[in-house]
Amino acid sequence: MIAIEAPRLGEPYLLTPGPLTTSYAVKQAMLRDWGSWDEDFRAMTRAMRDQLLAMLGSGADAFDCVPMQGSGTFAVEAMLSSFVPRDGKVLVLANGAYGLRAAQTLAYLGRHFVVLDKGDYLPPRGEEVTRMLADDPAISHVIAIHCETSSGILNPLQEISAATYAQGRKLLVDSMSAFGAIPLLPSEIRFEAMVSSANKCIEGVPGFGFVIARKAELEAAKGNCASISLDVHAQWTHMDKTGQWRFTPPTHAVAAFLEALRIHKAEGGVAGRGRRYAVNRDVLVDGMRAIGFETLLADRWLSPIIVTFFCPADPGFEFSRFYDLMKARGFIIYPGKLTVVDSFRVGCIGQLDAEVMRRVVVAAQESLDEMGIADAAPPAKALEERAKLAA
Ligand SMILES: *Cc1c(COP(=O)(O)O)cnc(C)c1O
Repeated sequence: MIAIEAPRLGEPYLLTPGPLTTSYAVKQAMLRDWGSWDEDFRAMTRAMRDQLLAMLGSGADAFDCVPMQGSGTFAVEAMLSSFVPRDGKVLVLANGAYGLRAAQTLAYLGRHFVVLDKGDYLPPRGEEVTRMLADDPAISHVIAIHCETSSGILNPLQEISAATYAQGRKLLVDSMSAFGAIPLLPSEIRFEAMVSSANKCIEGVPGFGFVIARKAELEAAKGNCASISLDVHAQWTHMDKTGQWRFTPPTHAVAAFLEALRIHKAEGGVAGRGRRYAVNRDVLVDGMRAIGFETLLADRWLSPIIVTFFCPADPGFEFSRFYDLMKARGFIIYPGKLTVVDSFRVGCIGQLDAEVMRRVVVAAQESLDEMGIADAAPPAKALEERAKLAA
């Protein structure tokens, strides 16, 4: 266990899925400038790629890591446009905003796709994938969201992968909010490519994402992408040849990320990071339930990344007021993204630990008290919605 650091200078804790609360050492790593061409920075890029690849465990040799400038969405778009051939067709497994964004991205790219839309939070299941692939031989790829950050659900990637490959198709994974805290081992879950970004579970600052893909897929990606800046094959070959990014790299964000990787390793890597986040979630969920809040998801589907709570039914509850009261106590929470009932989210990732999460619960109770709300129970409709999950 390593100690987490309280934000300095009176900054609030960010209980959000990235950007998130980073350690002081990560912020401090940005206090100098690097030349993008210089060998010092090329060595930093190499070290970062190697350390990310090592998280795949055995079988990592078959993969390579290609960092891409921009936010996570840029990396998702780079993956889809580079690995799906122009005559390919994608099955998008959607149960929230990020799945729908993948579909929207494919629409922009002019790629063929079909969506399995499970609504706000129901998980796409292996049998559904099997059925859709069997019915449509034109589908070449499946894209799945590892943790759908809009509800916090941890999707059943293993059964999705098994179903995809049993039908002879290829899996692409948006592991943006999971990678680094939830294992994604090719020895256990087969996939061709995945993406994540600097400012999620590795706890770096925003500025770039990274694609981890099989070398065979990287080779085959040549000529697929119609965008110069998002062409993963071009970035990969250039980086391998010169050690450099093709265009201005986010040098300070890379320096911060290397420090974040060092801390990640010291914490026990993916397992250690995942353990701390799981404790954060458990303390948060137990505490919030004890003061009357209800989670959207049953325990089985709760990720250690972010938790969705229903807003109380009490007409005196107003999210924006609750938000301000929480902020005044040092905690930035996140609005909900459900279409049917009102909700809010609390992230468990970043420099947070059990002690911080206990204080979050105290702050929530004080905020309710200040709003004059005696009962945090959600409306009956919310619980009816949730019952669908158990069905
Ligand atoms: C954060 C996130 C993204 C990327 O979002 P950006 O705002 O572009 O960084 C994509 N997918 C998931 C599941 C995410 O959590």
